[in-house]
Amino acid sequence: MSILREPARETPVLHETEVLVVGGGSAGVAAAVAAARRGADVLLVERHGYLGGLATGGLIILLLTLDDGRGRQAVAGLCQEVVERLDARSASFHPAPEEWGREDADLVERDRRWGLVWGRGPHRVRYSVAYDPAMLKGELDALAQESGAGILLHAWACEPVLEEGRIAALTFQGKSGRFAVRARVVIDASGDGDVFFGAGCAHETERVLPWMWFTAGGVDVGRAQAAGAGCFQTIGPGKVLFPWGSIEKVGRIDATRPEELTRAELECRRRVLAEFDRLRREVPGFADAHLCEIADQLGITESRRLTGRRVLSRDDMDRALPDAVAVTGHWTRYGALYHIPYDALLPREVPNLLVAGRCISADHRVHHATKEIPACMATGEAAGAAAALAVRAGVDPAELDPAPLRASLADGGAIVSLEPTAT
Ligand SMILES: Cc1cc2nc3c(=O)[nH]c(=O)nc-3n(C[C@H](O)[C@H](O)[C@H](O)COP(=O)(O)OP(=O)(O)OC[C@H]3O[C@@H](n4cnc5c(N)ncnc54)[C@H](O)[C@@H]3O)c2cc1C
Repeated sequence: MSILREPARETPVLHETEVLVVGGGSAGVAAAVAAARRGADVLLVERHGYLGGLATGGLIILLLTLDDGRGRQAVAGLCQEVVERLDARSASFHPAPEEWGREDADLVERDRRWGLVWGRGPHRVRYSVAYDPAMLKGELDALAQESGAGILLHAWACEPVLEEGRIAALTFQGKSGRFAVRARVVIDASGDGDVFFGAGCAHETERVLPWMWFTAGGVDVGRAQAAGAGCFQTIGPGKVLFPWGSIEKVGRIDATRPEELTRAELECRRRVLAEFDRLRREVPGFADAHLCEIADQLGITESRRLTGRRVLSRDDMDRALPDAVAVTGHWTRYGALYHIPYDALLPREVPNLLVAGRCISADHRVHHATKEIPACMATGEAAGAAAALAVRAGVDPAELDPAPLRASLADGGAIVSLEPTAT
């Protein structure tokens, strides 16, 4: 490979902030809101023109499991607030609280049609939510703006600038050129760990099968599902969601490499069109259907995962941890519960960096539980609260005592502890 030596450059510092959040997915929005509500000066930077990440642009429009599979709520706080905002707009479907945990076969079957039932039985009703992605985009804009957090879209984070082991600033690329943002605390909510990677923090990289979910309208949903079309009912009459991937054809990719992402995007999109043609031609209920949306972000479950101060592992299942800052159930395992410790958000190497969302420090198996959107919002909320408390106390997040952080999160409505029950 030939090497190009770039000339040294002077980069304008366009923003200075106390808390800089990189990535406006579900974790990043929660982080920005949690920090701003606690009085911090916050800037949330996102490379695309909208917030939500996979939860909007990726069409992953199922909040799977805000509960423990036994009828108890495990994620609340900002995620619950989002559900209530969607409810107020009639943009969601979920079981009522009195139904959670019930083994009623009719209710389970109703929820299966919405994509809210996964894993091996015997099944119970879960607290999971199907929703409209356009409404979520709008509500996340409003939630972030109302919190007082600054928002900067269309800016791509490039490199952290390290001074004496701390991140002093981050460079970004926009249409107008390169610029920098100085910050006291940085939260990496990029999903792919772009900031901790740039800062040289220990991590693991997974190769994954790419997905490309899509929606169709004008469908006779009952006939389509009875014919085994592999789609879920979603918000809007005659509208269905396909949790789709051309996975066996494309194979596993490293989702940090543009060449591999390009191949997956082009091949998946070509195959979505072919699949939609087949549905219209062959499958009952699709004769008058139209394609609504193809996800504009590939469905990437994981790429880089932090190897932080503590790596959450399967041994931690059903263990209460004294420094837990979030709790999550498991979307396929009824009754399984993970307490997420503060140390799983902290790299070992950089004291003023926090990590939130799908790239926190958990092993590959536990990642199935920590990557779900409710859990990403919960770790985002914890990281944002930690950043604000650290700034106020004049310390780095690495030095912060988790006890007042847990108290602050609980005051804000988050769940930081839940008694494990026998599965
Ligand atoms: C196929 C598939 C099915 C899934 N099914 C479900 C499900 O049914 N229910 C569920 O709850 N979860 C599900 N998940 C998991 C869930 O969707 C994700 O783990 C979660 O949405 C991740 O949120 P996040 O905020 O951590 O990351 P993301 O949503 O990836 O957000 C990261 C954000 O950072 C931005 N960004 C990235 N790099 C940069 C940069 N350098 N500069 C600026 N911005 C940047 C991105 O544009 C994006 O907006 C599924 C995931 C996949 C892939």
